[in-house]
Amino acid sequence: MHAMADEEVSPDASDLMEKVVGLCKRRGLIFQSAEIYGGFRSTYDYGPLGVNLLRNVKNAWWMSMVQCRDDVVGLDAAILSPPAVWAASGHLATFTDPLVDCMKCHQRWREDKIDGVCPSCGSREFTEARAFNLMFKTHAGPLEDEGAVAYLRPETAQGMFTNFANVLQTTRMKPPFGIAQVGKSFRNEITPQNFVFRTREFEQMEMEYFVPPAEAATWFDYWLAQRFQWYLDLGIPEDRLRLRHHETSELSHYSSATADVEFLFPWGWDELEGVANRGEFDLQAHAAASGEKLEYYDQSTNERYVPHVIEPAAGATRTMMAFLLAAYHEDEVGGEARTVLRLHPRLAPYQVGVLPLSKKDTLEPLAREVLTSLQPHFLCDYDTTQSIGKRYRRQDEVGTPWCVTVDFDSLEDRAVTVRDRDTTEQVRVPIDSLVAELRRRLDAS
Ligand code: ATP
Repeated sequence: MHAMADEEVSPDASDLMEKVVGLCKRRGLIFQSAEIYGGFRSTYDYGPLGVNLLRNVKNAWWMSMVQCRDDVVGLDAAILSPPAVWAASGHLATFTDPLVDCMKCHQRWREDKIDGVCPSCGSREFTEARAFNLMFKTHAGPLEDEGAVAYLRPETAQGMFTNFANVLQTTRMKPPFGIAQVGKSFRNEITPQNFVFRTREFEQMEMEYFVPPAEAATWFDYWLAQRFQWYLDLGIPEDRLRLRHHETSELSHYSSATADVEFLFPWGWDELEGVANRGEFDLQAHAAASGEKLEYYDQSTNERYVPHVIEPAAGATRTMMAFLLAAYHEDEVGGEARTVLRLHPRLAPYQVGVLPLSKKDTLEPLAREVLTSLQPHFLCDYDTTQSIGKRYRRQDEVGTPWCVTVDFDSLEDRAVTVRDRDTTEQVRVPIDSLVAELRRRLDAS
């Protein structure tokens, strides 16, 4: 980590949530959806800065899970899918949460999340729990009959199973290998809550890793360690991250072992990602239901088998929120209070802020030249409004790791000042080596 500026004053947990939600709205990270119509409960839109941050989270995942490996390939499957997929996967029968109604205030809750007490009125009397299926059902085409039923996928994983044979036939992959996907999923959550932690529409980052059955336990441990490290590498502090192994009674219908990567949210430890050993459940279920052979034939040993599957399943939107909560800090610089997001430079909505020192027209052409040279390499903001101090604060507040200031000396020496967000240290860098210097800093972060 970098050295910190002056005294650090971190908000306590109860304030933190409010401050981060406020910042998200004020600075265009996350807006309430359909706000001009009063908002649509628990749906959110990602604004100009939020879309950058969310993309950076997904890119960092793709970089580590696909781009930097030769044993994992990508996929982008359809969101709409026919009931047959969800009948085979078990979701139609078992993808349910226990729904209870409070007898006193009639609010509806997910029984396993409320400890027997109504969060709204405090009553302990509820109706019997009913199994509520979380899948969004819709109709494809103009006829709303049973034959036209379609579901919005509640997870991206099934696309990897239904395309297993396609990927085997069109690539040179053989177990152990993985198929990865990032995309939207939909769950009709009974009680969406905690900002973007639990929403009905969200984004997932999932990978199915197909292995010879005897190697499943080893790969489970491998992926657990890899995934835990990914969060640490992107700046989540070690004391706010933990692994929790599921008890046998908690395991999903498909899983023989599951462990969650958990983050210390303001309300306590909660899940960021689940890593599951799904065994041969999915491939076998889809093979039985579709009549297709979903197995691997190993020519070297003349063996045919159904690979077992290890699945690291993370939420992109939920993880983005954890990165924001972990990054939020308040400190003082030169006796002045500031809010600073200490986001990893790879995640920051803007990596560089280009700031001409004065609004005078004389600096504009050079400042724009600097901006244009940086834009193909980094996410850049260009800000000419208000004093330089205010502009630094504005960039600090959204986590921009480096500000580049163009001043009157720049016109003479073709050099600029690069200021570091965390240390507030400033150094002079020649414009000709600016891209290389910032690239060096990004690679070193
Ligand atoms: P929970 O128990 O919290 O409902 P889950 O264990 O059913 O979640 P998984 O099916 O394992 O979740 O999904 C993998 C990941 O997808 C989760 O770890 C989470 O990051 C993300 N995710 C799941 N449901 C939601 C949701 N409603 N909103 C945002 N992210 C979600």
